[in-house]
Amino acid sequence: MENRKVLKSGEFLVSEVESKDVFIPEEFNEEQSMIAQTCRDFLEAEVYPNLEKVEKSDRELMKTLLKKSGDLGLMGISIPEEYMGFGQSFVTQMLVAETTGAGYSFSVAYMAHCGIGTLPIMYYGNEDQRQRYVTKLATGEFIGAYCLTEPGAGSDANSGKTNAKLSDDGKHYILNGQKMWITNAGFADTLVVFAKIDNDRVLSAFIVETKYPGVVIGPDEHKMGIKGSSTAQIYFNDVKVPVENLLGKRGEGFRIALSILHMGRIKLGGNVLGAAKKAITDSVKYANERKQFGVLISSFGSIKQKLAEQVIRLFAAESAVYRVSKDIDDLMDKLKVDCGDKGRASIEAISHYAVEAAILKVMGSEMLDYVADEAVQIHGGMGYSAEMFVERGYRDSRINRIFEGTNEINRLLVVDTAMKRAMKGEFDLFGEAEKLYNNLDSIISGKAPEGPYFTQKHEYIKNFKKAILICMHGATKKFEKDLVNQQEVLNNIADMMIDTYTAESLVLRVEKLEALKGNSPIYRDMADVLVFDAADRIRKAACDAIYSFAAPEEATKPVKAIEKLSATAGVNVKEARRRIAGKLIEDNQYKF
Ligand SMILES: Cc1cc2nc3c(=O)[nH]c(=O)nc-3n(C[C@H](O)[C@H](O)[C@H](O)COP(=O)(O)OP(=O)(O)OC[C@H]3O[C@@H](n4cnc5c(N)ncnc54)[C@H](O)[C@@H]3O)c2cc1C
Repeated sequence: MENRKVLKSGEFLVSEVESKDVFIPEEFNEEQSMIAQTCRDFLEAEVYPNLEKVEKSDRELMKTLLKKSGDLGLMGISIPEEYMGFGQSFVTQMLVAETTGAGYSFSVAYMAHCGIGTLPIMYYGNEDQRQRYVTKLATGEFIGAYCLTEPGAGSDANSGKTNAKLSDDGKHYILNGQKMWITNAGFADTLVVFAKIDNDRVLSAFIVETKYPGVVIGPDEHKMGIKGSSTAQIYFNDVKVPVENLLGKRGEGFRIALSILHMGRIKLGGNVLGAAKKAITDSVKYANERKQFGVLISSFGSIKQKLAEQVIRLFAAESAVYRVSKDIDDLMDKLKVDCGDKGRASIEAISHYAVEAAILKVMGSEMLDYVADEAVQIHGGMGYSAEMFVERGYRDSRINRIFEGTNEINRLLVVDTAMKRAMKGEFDLFGEAEKLYNNLDSIISGKAPEGPYFTQKHEYIKNFKKAILICMHGATKKFEKDLVNQQEVLNNIADMMIDTYTAESLVLRVEKLEALKGNSPIYRDMADVLVFDAADRIRKAACDAIYSFAAPEEATKPVKAIEKLSATAGVNVKEARRRIAGKLIEDNQYKF
């Protein structure tokens, strides 16, 4: 493991890393690039030609596609070799998540299988369970699903009513209840089911085979998008689950469910990158073919503006995704040495980065919604035609803001988790915040950031962090324990954190890219536009928060400080976006 500075989860609020210490996608090695190419080839050869058929709810065809990806080894990427997988690094897992993310509903079925359907058993299963199930899930012999949601238990996942009782002979748990919205339900062989044993307060987890008597799978839901993925209700009627299939300890299910959701969120952050790259390439290809008023529509400023903005948001999201993926990789390596069990070490490392997981989930899903929406717009009327990929992409994108914890829940988690980590003493957030709040005058009278290009950019970002701390301090002081009920303010702070982490990741990437490959004006353009726009959003969110916790006369000073901390030099965003769009238009595909 190379010697580099790695921040703890949420610590970015009070600390900085140097660009040499972040991983950037331009550093993928040859093996990683080959794995990504295998995924792309698979989508071209097997998935795209079959999309219409799977979207007619052809469960058998989707199952066949999944199994074919298993034959190619794509299901074992995250699984250690001793369980029939390929034991790839977390960065590689994310690259696979990204590349398969361009596969529309196949991508949802594949990710549900490889992630939430398989990894709970890999991470929390004992040796016998891993041998019985993970070895088969890693090759595609079995297909997996994850059953947490119930009709009455969605965001409040621990409130489920599914129940398990030990049989009189002590050999089985008798499972009764109902799950809904279960991805891969139509053809799964194994289910990870969350249920309460007797009158327990918290959930336990069970491995349930769909062939057990009493498991009944409902018909597929009629969905807005991802129509090819099977989503159905599952009923458990006196299902006898062998006691050996209790996953983890009794009462450990809620922890397992939450940890797996952290993993799902980070992987979703990777997944949306692939979908966005596909939509951008489709957009530019169309813009380079379609003529109106005697010229290609790609020559219009309005279209360039959209194309460039698609690229900037995607590139920024990608910077954040791989930055945290490498941090997780390093922590995994360390924990594997410390605790010995590869599964537990992996999930501990992923769960540690819960703040960034929630950031990637919200930012990535909203980035894709923007990109998919503008892709339709660039296609005009054709964007509304079901014949076009962008129409499907638009419908398929929407789910990402709902599953793996809704974006509302994840915004709350961004702030709550960072504050809890700070309270545990992992980094000094509250002390720094108080100092800043007590020194608002010096912020107001301070000098604007100056110096060489990257120094100035880093100063802007440090200022954004100060703005976040000021809002956190003011809100905590005003609302105290009632802060949890002030969701609008928490949302403001979450948005500032999301923008700051993303902007910082992009700037660090551009800086490292220049160190590796020399000056790159297009990438500076991206950093310029994103930081300029982020500053404005941060100013607005911070002012909204301050006016929510301070009376107008008390708000004057903190608001002035925020104006100062969010001030940046002007940017000619029109020309910067035109240059970015120019490269995209010339390449006629996303190639940044
Ligand atoms: C296509 C699809 C596939 C899915 N796949 C799976 C799967 O494989 N396995 C599985 O277990 N589940 C799955 N789900 C379920 C999914 O995770 C839930 O739909 C999601 O967690 C939201 O729960 P809910 O639908 O009950 O919405 P609700 O929890 O009822 O939320 C409704 C609205 O209220 C908001 N809200 C709720 N609580 C709060 C709060 N405390 N503060 C602020 N706002 C709040 C939500 O953000 C949302 O906007 C899937 C869902 C879909 C649609």
